[in-house]
Amino acid sequence: MDFHRTRFLMIGKSYRWDISLIIPPMFEFNLVARQDNARAGTFQTPHGELRTPVFAPVGTQATVKTLTPDQLEDLGASLVLSNTYHLYLRPGDELVAEMGGLHEFMQWPQPLLTDSGGYQVFSLSDTRKIDDDGVTFKSHVDGSTHRFTPERSIQIQKNLGADIIMVFDECSDPNDRDYTRIAMERTHRWAERSLQAHRRTDQALFGIVQGGVDLDLRVKSAEFISSLPFPGIAIGGLSVGETKAEMHATLDVVTPLLPENKPRYLMGVGTPEDLIQGIARGIDIFDCVLPTRLARHNAAFSSEGRLNLMNAVYARDPRPIDETCGCYTCRTFTRAYIRHLISAKESLAGTLLSIHNLHTMISLVNEIRAAIIEGTFESKISLWLEQWHGNAERVKMKADQ
Ligand SMILES: [Zn+2]
Repeated sequence: MDFHRTRFLMIGKSYRWDISLIIPPMFEFNLVARQDNARAGTFQTPHGELRTPVFAPVGTQATVKTLTPDQLEDLGASLVLSNTYHLYLRPGDELVAEMGGLHEFMQWPQPLLTDSGGYQVFSLSDTRKIDDDGVTFKSHVDGSTHRFTPERSIQIQKNLGADIIMVFDECSDPNDRDYTRIAMERTHRWAERSLQAHRRTDQALFGIVQGGVDLDLRVKSAEFISSLPFPGIAIGGLSVGETKAEMHATLDVVTPLLPENKPRYLMGVGTPEDLIQGIARGIDIFDCVLPTRLARHNAAFSSEGRLNLMNAVYARDPRPIDETCGCYTCRTFTRAYIRHLISAKESLAGTLLSIHNLHTMISLVNEIRAAIIEGTFESKISLWLEQWHGNAERVKMKADQ
């Protein structure tokens, strides 16, 4: 079958997207088990099977900061996210393609996901200009002027070569409701243009639902994006300043409208608590910079709350970061040693804290997946929430400062 021949079928009197020509058969999603809205599944990609729910560490510059690919694999990471905006500016997507694509370049043998660059470009609020066709912006590296359109973003992601790629979308300030509507409508037009521009059959292009925290807009967006032949659907525009209650209300409205037979990806979220809440609402894929960003700020997740290892109270503390954690860092080193590395500005501190924080997220998601399959998710959720409630983390953080 010629994948590129046509994108539309004549159905009755109207043209519809021809799904069989757009969703490559290699991206099969199967539900293994479900409990209430929580799902466990498998998603096939050209670089292996993802077992969902899955948490993706973020490797902005084609590296998950301070960790080697071997260390990531030892942690049980499967999917890694890289940022199109950063790689386009440096070293350049064409250079990455020349070096054999992103998998080869960064030596990550498992599935990769790239975002569209939209989120980063729209975050450059002082130096970017948006119109209906695309966005003109200035590079944060050297101040040079660049332009992204849906077609350009897909072309760059094609050069990078990740397994999962994203449509170009506009993420607006959720508190500006009038503008959120305009941004959502633009996102819908750009979703269609991204689909039209998509050519590689070994890349799965995901659509993105926008609409801020306006539930009517979210319904519209979920219905529109679900009507297009994407092999997976993302929910964007969350974890950008709204309250937890608003995030949960948005997910409660959006996920029931999404197709059952496609993976759902909650972009840029979040904390251990967000993971539990998201999975309970039917999310399958997560990514977040938080575990590695916290590590760079000397902070660690723990079952007692968030710890800041720079705190003087740990100077002679012989315990591991978390006595209940089985990661390499906790099996091997004391809080006192890690605090010493931080004080001496040794880069190993970042590595050890990143190992611990990523282990926390990945082992939590694996534990939840096993519970969904065993049918014990519902009975364990309150225990997990009690352990990982955000308030407890904040209280501990305050006590540490
Ligand atoms: Zn640990």
